[in-house]
Amino acid sequence: MSTSKQPPAAGPGLPVLEGEEPWTDEEVVEQRAELQDELERLERRIAATEAELDSLMRGGTDGAGRDPADVGSSNFERDQEFSLAQNVREMAEQLRLAIHLFDHGEYGYCEVCGQPIGKGRLQVFPRATLCVTCKQREERR
Ligand SMILES: [Zn+2]
Repeated sequence: MSTSKQPPAAGPGLPVLEGEEPWTDEEVVEQRAELQDELERLERRIAATEAELDSLMRGGTDGAGRDPADVGSSNFERDQEFSLAQNVREMAEQLRLAIHLFDHGEYGYCEVCGQPIGKGRLQVFPRATLCVTCKQREERR
């Protein structure tokens, strides 16, 4: 029976930029959990927003007991809810993609140039799928 220490797990790890510390197994696990948590948070928000929209829509069509000013403000509210819902859905989409990449061992590489995104950036924006350079290029468009 051996009492020797376990060798470090040969996990797939995640890519880093030059000069960055390698990911520890613990950090990799945390990163995956962070993605999952964030997705669950967003999904709860989507559900809440949809319920809200639903009631706004219903209020709009039936319209009983509302004066016109009320209807106007609820249309505005509805537009706001729509664009908010759209944003949240896009973020959730990005997260699902990040989780998918993670589970296929492709997480952490830029979708455009294929270079590592960088540990620092991923820890701040777990759902990032573009490196800083490609992201900036995209934003300038
Ligand atoms: Zn890139």
